[in-house]
Amino acid sequence: MKIEKDRVVRFHYTVSELGQEPIESSRDRDPLAILIGHGNIIPGLENAMMDKEAGATFAVDVKAADAYGERRDGLSQRVPKKHFGTTRLVPGQQVVLQTNFGPRAVTVQKVGMSVVDVDLNHPMAGKDLHFDVEIVEVREASKEEIEHGHVHGDGGHQH
Ligand code: ZN
Repeated sequence: MKIEKDRVVRFHYTVSELGQEPIESSRDRDPLAILIGHGNIIPGLENAMMDKEAGATFAVDVKAADAYGERRDGLSQRVPKKHFGTTRLVPGQQVVLQTNFGPRAVTVQKVGMSVVDVDLNHPMAGKDLHFDVEIVEVREASKEEIEHGHVHGDGGHQH
């Protein structure tokens, strides 16, 4: 079965910045499961998967614009320190901040007495990425999954 819109794909991936050591890999956990065609993964990776089948392995380079986007200036925000709990903060550190839009990865820029300046750019924004991918499984999505826009069960939402 080929990968196309409204199918569920389970895959392993390893991602690195072009020419560098891996940043992250699914190899030490379960494969990632995503619903194709619903904006669940970066466009460059989704496009590269199209028409592939279970067992396929491939590598793809994805430009920042098709990955996590270009870095944007002016995305700094001053946040009261209490929102970070008791974690000791260091400039350059990546932390997950609870926002009105859900958890968000941010980078600490400057730590003050009572406030912290953070950069809201995605940590991988502005980076050209290299992915090594192995397609583990391709299946039809259920009607409910398509309505919800995400995968249920193995590797997906449990609700
Ligand atoms: Zn759901």
